[in-house]
Amino acid sequence: MHLYIHIPFCKQACHYCDFHFSTNTTNKRAVVEAIAREIVLRQSYLPDGDMETIYFGGGTPSMLDEAELRFLLDTIHRQFRVAPNAEITLEANPDDLNAATLQMFAKSGINRLSIGIQSFHEPHLRFMNRAHSAVEAEQCVKLAQDAGIDNISIDLIYAIPAESHAILLSDLSKAFTLNVPHISAYCLTIEPQTAFGSWLKKKKIKPIEEEYAAQQFEILVGSLRENGYEQYEISNFARNSRYSNHNSSYWKQHPYLGVGPSAHSYNGVSREYNISNNAKYLEAIQKGSIPATIETLSPADQTNEYLLTGLRTKWGVERQKLEMLSAGAFALQAGEELERITRKGWIKEDSGILLLTEAGKLFADRIASDLFID
Ligand code: SF4
Repeated sequence: MHLYIHIPFCKQACHYCDFHFSTNTTNKRAVVEAIAREIVLRQSYLPDGDMETIYFGGGTPSMLDEAELRFLLDTIHRQFRVAPNAEITLEANPDDLNAATLQMFAKSGINRLSIGIQSFHEPHLRFMNRAHSAVEAEQCVKLAQDAGIDNISIDLIYAIPAESHAILLSDLSKAFTLNVPHISAYCLTIEPQTAFGSWLKKKKIKPIEEEYAAQQFEILVGSLRENGYEQYEISNFARNSRYSNHNSSYWKQHPYLGVGPSAHSYNGVSREYNISNNAKYLEAIQKGSIPATIETLSPADQTNEYLLTGLRTKWGVERQKLEMLSAGAFALQAGEELERITRKGWIKEDSGILLLTEAGKLFADRIASDLFID
């Protein structure tokens, strides 16, 4: 079983971000209490079993103080059987991390950190309106390791407009010296509801060129491979199989419960989407109701979701499962397209498992959507 907790607060808005968060923290304590209440209300959402992963995401969960974090963890332990070796991840921003906070996290039971570094290059951090400096980005990983948390993932963003690829290479080389077991690397995308989106509309910035992004992706993948990181998902790289168990459970379509404003849940047959509004979330939970919309997944939805997430991973997608989820419709509807993509050299089949080739990884989402069924 897997649990996601969305902490919907940030110090400031990064110019590229379209996640749900608020920079107004006046009702932070009340929202934390509501999240704990939702955990109680949702106790029977998942089938019985040990909680194997717990993930504090956001927003910025490292803005939780000790009392808030302990309150949430105590509630989780009261409501669920947490596996003794459960992976408990907290997303953190470098500017929140100091020796005392990190020791508090470790003492509370957090055993994995996902740190939003994004870049070690000061002008890029300013361009994206990150709240931390390049120096803090480097220091926080060492501080976390000193506090005894060695299961660390760092986030990097590539395809940030620059004269050459030198900044990306320098970001990667700094990341390698920190000796973290996991790196997530995401392409900068410009979403309409963000500062970058509005600047693009006003022509203050240019769109990210596809060719530049593809070149950066190739540099990134090659450099990570040379340094011992396995690309186990298009954007995720691990040394010594230290994968994110929590995110892997999404990609393998295991059921999970998501609590907090904007969190999603999945139970195998439907998805639930919590409202992305802190005040409305609070009001509903205080009345004892869960402000979520439910989407029942048709066989086509389940097949297409499996394609979209599975093809991005090193585990690929099983032909048999595609037929099972689609009630036999996959081969009929997507068989010819699959042959075409295979002939192009973007997909290979190995013992009934479809996997993207290195060339195919450049077009993962497009390939999946070309195989979608109705
Ligand atoms: S990227 Fe992270 S820190 Fe920045 S606004 Fe989005 S959620 Fe907050």
